[in-house]
Amino acid sequence: MPDARAQLGGERLFRRRTVVQHPRRVGEDQLLERDLLGEALQVVRRSVPGELRSRPLELARRRAQSELARPASEQGASESGAGAEIEASRGCPYHCTFCAKENFRDRYRRRPFATILAELDGLIAAGVTYVYFIDEIFLPWRQLLEAVAARPVQFGVQTRIDLWSREMLDLLGAAGCVSIEAGVESLTHEGRDWLEKHCKLSTQALTELLIYAKRTVPFVQANLIASGDDAEMVERWRDELRNAGVWANDPVPLFPYPGSPDYRRLWGVPDDNAWERAVDYYLDRYAKLSEIQDARPRRLAALEAHSG
Ligand code: SF4
Repeated sequence: MPDARAQLGGERLFRRRTVVQHPRRVGEDQLLERDLLGEALQVVRRSVPGELRSRPLELARRRAQSELARPASEQGASESGAGAEIEASRGCPYHCTFCAKENFRDRYRRRPFATILAELDGLIAAGVTYVYFIDEIFLPWRQLLEAVAARPVQFGVQTRIDLWSREMLDLLGAAGCVSIEAGVESLTHEGRDWLEKHCKLSTQALTELLIYAKRTVPFVQANLIASGDDAEMVERWRDELRNAGVWANDPVPLFPYPGSPDYRRLWGVPDDNAWERAVDYYLDRYAKLSEIQDARPRRLAALEAHSG
């Protein structure tokens, strides 16, 4: 994760997952809020006792993508120089049923190469040594990886391992990637098809790529979603990956994110109560959430009442 003092915020799926499925990574000292437009959730980290950091998101949303170069101070760069967020692309060409990208981050488009590099150089000049690419999906991009490799910065990405060749994984590691979060979701073709992953590789091939990536990337994580996979098969697979240094989570129940096909199938087009409805639905059904989660998330009405 980037610098713990940097504010985490955004409309990105990963962050939403973090809130609902991995709250310990968010921590008890954080609050879950709706953003100003009521379209997304925002995680606000209490970096100093009594102080909340928050960043409205609507400006970034309204600007054209090519205009999105932001000063380092607005990207989470802290005085200690640890980390910041950056974006190489927006959207994703896939349409997984659980992914909340339909409303604002559907179509895949890259930001201009020169803009990304100028932004990255600005961050490095400001003392940043780690960036997290907040792209919905960080796709292989040789030109970008070669440029990042020439710079003194490490980075983390979220991607699909099935889209990477061994050669490109080598380049990813050589470029300074220290963290990969890869959505595998299910260990069967049927499970991946149910989630509409459109994954062309076998589970064995996915496994080999994850383990291969670990040769050059220090942290590799495979995400699993509860999709009907046999529990013993999942445990065996997790052990196999763990033995190779790759972490895979205990499958987490699906959350019907507003903006995802799953939400639309259940309730149609999201309205003003979409997030309340989705969180209530989730909490009503699942007593056990993520394995790394001790606390139970509170309902949004309770959080809003608490924050006044
Ligand atoms: S691959 Fe699927 S889960 Fe990942 S960003 Fe694309 S649609 Fe979302």
